[in-house]
Amino acid sequence: MTAEKKQGKVWLVGAGPSDAGLFTLKGKAVLETADVVVYDKLVGQGIMAMVPSHARKISVGKEAGHHPVPQHEINEILLREALAGNYVVRLKGGDPFLFGRGGEELELLCRHNIPFEVVPGITSALSVPAYGGIPVTHRDFCSSLHIITGHTKKAEEADVDYEALVRLNGTLVFLMGVAAMPRICRGLLEAGMKPDMPAAVLERGTTAHQRRVVATVSSLPGEAEKAGIKTPAVIVVGQVCTLERDFHWAEDRPLGTRKIAVTRPKDRSSSLAKKLQALGAEVVLMPTIETRPIADNRRLYQALEQIKAYSWIAFTSAAGVQAFYAAMKEKKMDIRSLAGIKIAVIGAGTRRAVEEKGVFADLMPEVYSGEALGRDLAKAVSPGERILLPRAAMGTEAVIRPLRDAEISFDDIAVYETNEGNQPVPGYDDTVDCVAFTSASTVRGFVKLNPDTDYSQVKAICIGEQTAAAAEKYGMQVTVSKQATIDSMIETILRMEP
Ligand code: SAH
Repeated sequence: MTAEKKQGKVWLVGAGPSDAGLFTLKGKAVLETADVVVYDKLVGQGIMAMVPSHARKISVGKEAGHHPVPQHEINEILLREALAGNYVVRLKGGDPFLFGRGGEELELLCRHNIPFEVVPGITSALSVPAYGGIPVTHRDFCSSLHIITGHTKKAEEADVDYEALVRLNGTLVFLMGVAAMPRICRGLLEAGMKPDMPAAVLERGTTAHQRRVVATVSSLPGEAEKAGIKTPAVIVVGQVCTLERDFHWAEDRPLGTRKIAVTRPKDRSSSLAKKLQALGAEVVLMPTIETRPIADNRRLYQALEQIKAYSWIAFTSAAGVQAFYAAMKEKKMDIRSLAGIKIAVIGAGTRRAVEEKGVFADLMPEVYSGEALGRDLAKAVSPGERILLPRAAMGTEAVIRPLRDAEISFDDIAVYETNEGNQPVPGYDDTVDCVAFTSASTVRGFVKLNPDTDYSQVKAICIGEQTAAAAEKYGMQVTVSKQATIDSMIETILRMEP
């Protein structure tokens, strides 16, 4: 009996500007059916938390300091995954067709007759000003709105017709314009715009850390630089910018400037998340994922049998370390059989895990990233040496890409699975203001999920003494709620200094 192969399909889905509440109902429904999710950096963490655990996640966005996956490769990933019979959700920031290259991604699919749908999203061009208290049109001021990209292929001269823009006298919204801000403002002034025309730049709109600078078209570049405004940001030029003085609202909500992580065992603490959201907080749900070593792992056993073939073992997580040593123990392999093999680790948490096994790592990259580990390894490995990579099933490509490029031989062996899909997205980072823990097991789950975190920087709001004790064990900054209730936790958060 042969099961009929599922026909693959692609959904181009707009994720909105960042606030998870601005994701469309249709987008969420489609996401729930996804086998594969291909996502950008601009997709909000709150939305990434909605990706179902069974879906495979492929990041194609820019990671700090590294280039994004080139467009033609993204197109090919979509095609390949759809041809393999998957439901592919291509999640893009804002709206997929507004400066989102959505059209380019459909071309290859069309040529191969892959069925697709488009789910529009709320664009940052309208919603970021709205969260900054700026209605993009107002009858007293303007009768048109123009959305322009500040990013042109040739960095120098933009093909923007500033004279036409000035003549139209409407509100102007520039996306991707942070780097080009001086050029944009100069272009408008030279085209005859009056120098005191109100203008604003709005950074990280709809998040808890949104900021804005309101000035004039002549002073905006200087003021934005003083404030250290960075991308992503939207530039608005027009009289409507003055309305912000009266209409600001987002950061005035009780928790409007707080980004709070809610660790949840399965689906339980969503009432806490809902209440925090209602008070304006940006909530990131962090499922506390359990990892599980792969049972009867033949590939790993084989590697262990010929362990002397490897000059290096590279670990990318504490869970990988645990699973590897557990397999050694199972096979009654003595620790001394690793003598002479060099050990690389991705970061401090993984290093601690190998140290607990009595081994001190030979290599750890300066920054915690798979790519940095791969690059440093590629440099350290001598010709003819082989690397063993015991890591998560469906680990990212980041580590192995530099190895492949350098033609280094390695064995990438899955040693553990996570029972909630693949890599944990989102993880903790320093943009999170505080983490709410509702049980000691959520603390342990959080630690497991975020092994390379400096816990002393984590502000933990704990529901009771036991939870607090668990958090204190890891050196977190602990605040305990008066009573062991969700409402008391919320009161505690409201009383805390931002
Ligand atoms: N398709 C997207 C735009 C992609 S271009 C949309 O419809 O929103 C990327 C640009 O969008 C950024 O350079 C920035 O100008 C803007 N942008 C996206 N998200 C933003 C946010 N949360 N805050 C400010 N600007 C944002």
